[in-house]
Amino acid sequence: MAQSLLVVGSIAFDSVRTPHDEVADVLGGSAVYFSVAASLFAPVRLVGVVGEDFPDGHRQVLQDRRIHIDGLQVVEGGKTFRWCGTYLGNMNERITDDVQLNVFGDFRPVIPRDWRRSDLVFLANGSPVTQMSVLDQVESPALTVADTMDLWIETARDELLVLLQHIDGLVLNDEEAAMLSGETDLAKAEDRILAMGPKFIVIKMGSEGARIAGRAPGPPHARGQEVIKAVLPAYCEGAVRDPTGAGDSFAGGMMGYLAGLDRPITVEDLPAALKVGTVMASFTIEDFSVRRLQDLARGEFDARLAAYDESVSG
Ligand code: AMP
Repeated sequence: MAQSLLVVGSIAFDSVRTPHDEVADVLGGSAVYFSVAASLFAPVRLVGVVGEDFPDGHRQVLQDRRIHIDGLQVVEGGKTFRWCGTYLGNMNERITDDVQLNVFGDFRPVIPRDWRRSDLVFLANGSPVTQMSVLDQVESPALTVADTMDLWIETARDELLVLLQHIDGLVLNDEEAAMLSGETDLAKAEDRILAMGPKFIVIKMGSEGARIAGRAPGPPHARGQEVIKAVLPAYCEGAVRDPTGAGDSFAGGMMGYLAGLDRPITVEDLPAALKVGTVMASFTIEDFSVRRLQDLARGEFDARLAAYDESVSG
């Protein structure tokens, strides 16, 4: 049996434009991408907020993937968070055209009583104050990981620094890592951010791949002091249709894999989790929304993971 995995984050209607295509009001949000990805390995407990406009069909997509949505708050008369973005050129550049926070602006996560003892906790992108309020509600999780973004590094740095003292892992992209650490050399940025408190840090570098540095979570006597550093290339099998959610599903793959191990996490598990996240993201970008992930079978995932493994070891 897998360990329990809790995620708190945004649930959205996304409108996305790429050089080739566009979609409006599709299912998105950091917690949605995370959950659908993680659900391949473990049942997921999702806490988020939506408005009355959130359709049953979207709920069904989540429930069909073993995602528990008892923690979904529905605000009467409210509207669901909306995000609109455009990708340019080779899709490595993204412009946010519009954000309507709606009910997400006043989101005060409440973790259902039965979920407070979740083994693994992922704090998807959100204000560090909100993320901290989730940590205050959970009881001795085995692993806590947070995502963050430039907005919080710029506007809530002090609160983010407090959060970093209380989490095991931090996930962020290369530009954010440079912004947080004041260091553009990512190997040095890792060391600086590790000195701020987290036991490990994952830096996403888009089409350049991802890197991880640090120690395993858990008390020192259980995990030892061994430090690991690894850099892995990205993976892409076909044309990129929409990169939205690559980062969140990457984190979902990582955390879902670790939850599925159902034993204390060792330092060797971290690069293995990074591989799973990388391969998960390679599926996400093949279609809009969670379309590629929602019907993804374990066999298809494992076959691509094996192909990726071969490409990095060979
Ligand atoms: P990613 O491409 O992994 O960075 O994630 C994109 C997803 O994040 C989209 O589905 C958006 O709905 C969601 N998103 C965009 N901006 C925010 C924000 N400020 N807070 C929370 N979620 C967001």
